[in-house]
Amino acid sequence: MHALLLKAPQELSYEEVPVPTPGPGDLLIKVKATTTCGTDLKAFRRGHPMIPMPGPLGHEYSGVVVAAGEGAKFKVGDPIMGVHSAPCQTCYWCQHGQENLCETIMATMVLGSYAEYLLIPKRIADLNVFDKPDSISFEMASLLEPLACVAQGVSKLPLTPDSSVLVIGPGAIGLMFVAALKAVGVEDVTLAGRNAGRLAVGESLGAKTSFITEIPFGNPNRYDIVVECTGQVEVWEWSVNYSRRGGTVMLFGGCPSGTRASFDTAHLHYDQVTLLSPFHFGTDAVKMSRDWLLNSNMDLSPIISGERKLKEGRAVLEDLEASRGLKYVFKP
Ligand SMILES: [Zn+2]
Ligand SMILES: [Zn+2]
Repeated sequence: MHALLLKAPQELSYEEVPVPTPGPGDLLIKVKATTTCGTDLKAFRRGHPMIPMPGPLGHEYSGVVVAAGEGAKFKVGDPIMGVHSAPCQTCYWCQHGQENLCETIMATMVLGSYAEYLLIPKRIADLNVFDKPDSISFEMASLLEPLACVAQGVSKLPLTPDSSVLVIGPGAIGLMFVAALKAVGVEDVTLAGRNAGRLAVGESLGAKTSFITEIPFGNPNRYDIVVECTGQVEVWEWSVNYSRRGGTVMLFGGCPSGTRASFDTAHLHYDQVTLLSPFHFGTDAVKMSRDWLLNSNMDLSPIISGERKLKEGRAVLEDLEASRGLKYVFKP
């Protein structure tokens, strides 16, 4: 089969590789849709601790089962959607309501969806793979995983229908936050950033938009909730200035490892600002994400910038690197 392999940073090759064979409980799917992700871009730029090189790439997928190992939960012909990890459900964190922090959450992963066929290991197939109903496209079903990250975040926010929320960073994740906040009934959502095209997508998803950049502490534009979605240290730092007294700031975008941020201690303490920084997702967030895709009128299609061919994978990542497009889909 054809697949994209990340050989080294900036080196993505389109190659012929063997089709994987499923073991007991595993699934092999024909990939029907697989979407690009900021994590792939990070790996392409400078390598990623969770993505071995040289190796396969891609972890947002949907498809149809073409082979099922003994005792597998699905059968040949089933259309499915899934995420790329599953908690063990037995470790300390899994037992204490923090499946997202499971100590082996990344020990078994689905990796390599930028290919014609994809192996889904039993641990994930049993817990975090679902039937894909006809009511949603394979393309939208491929967004289950990034939307589960957003669901984990949304589930930790103290939201009420009249909350004012500022989302900073109009990338795919920030835009999914806009859509998710709308889906849970929050009306007053403002999306901030510098890219006019991306802000326009935010408007189509129902957000007010703003070209804000750094402003000093003491600004008059305060929000009940601020969600930072850029993963840039300086934005982590100034995002806190947009919180009202007693507000909550969610630092969602992961910054490069080894970086540090500093905050105005008086604002945090005397204004009692709550900082949250959720990582990954547990099974409840996956169910919430699936529910949004299936049962709400959430339309994430404006986030997909177009369909591309696997063999032009390198050009696709270069486009994303240059902020040309938000998220692309391959249908291998
Ligand atoms: Zn992803
Ligand atoms: Zn665990």
